[in-house]
This record gives sequence, C-alpha cells and structure tokens, in this order.
Amino acid sequence: MAFASGKYSRAMCEQCGDEVAYTELQKQWDGLYSCGECFDTEHPQEQPSPSRPDAEALEHPRVDNNDQDASIYTQADNQWELDNT
Ligand SMILES: [Zn+2]
Repeated sequence: MAFASGKYSRAMCEQCGDEVAYTELQKQWDGLYSCGECFDTEHPQEQPSPSRPDAEALEHPRVDNNDQDASIYTQADNQWELDNT
C-alpha cells in the first residue's frame, strides 16, 4: 500500500502537542512521534545487559585433612556443641 508523502500536511507532536510539519515528526524509541525539538534517544539503562548469578562454589575444592585443626560439632536437642574428644 502506498502512502502519501505528507509534505503539505500538519501534524501534532505527541510530546509537546505543538503543530508541526508532518515530515518533521520522527518516531522515538518508545513509539511516540515527536518534533525535532522534543526528540529523545533511548537511555542506555532502558536495556541493561543480562545479569548472571553470582558464583557460590569453588570449581576445584580441596578437603582439609589435618585432623588436629579439625573441629567436630555435634547436635543434641537442637543445639550445636563442639566435641573435643
Ligand atoms: Zn514536540
């Protein structure tokens, strides 16, 4: 479908409401048609980069095999106690 160029038409800016030449209107990032004075570009924070979850575990964990430094906790009656035996 062919559209008329609108070079003699007048239109209303959707931002300020002023009457301007139809050919002056520009489509903004948010879909509004605005005049050259009101034209606004999209702010970079409107499209943030995708976020990734924080790493929680080590890739190659190692167990501490030193028994003297190890602490053993036991649970009794919903209380944790240090077992030094
Ligand atoms: Zn305007």
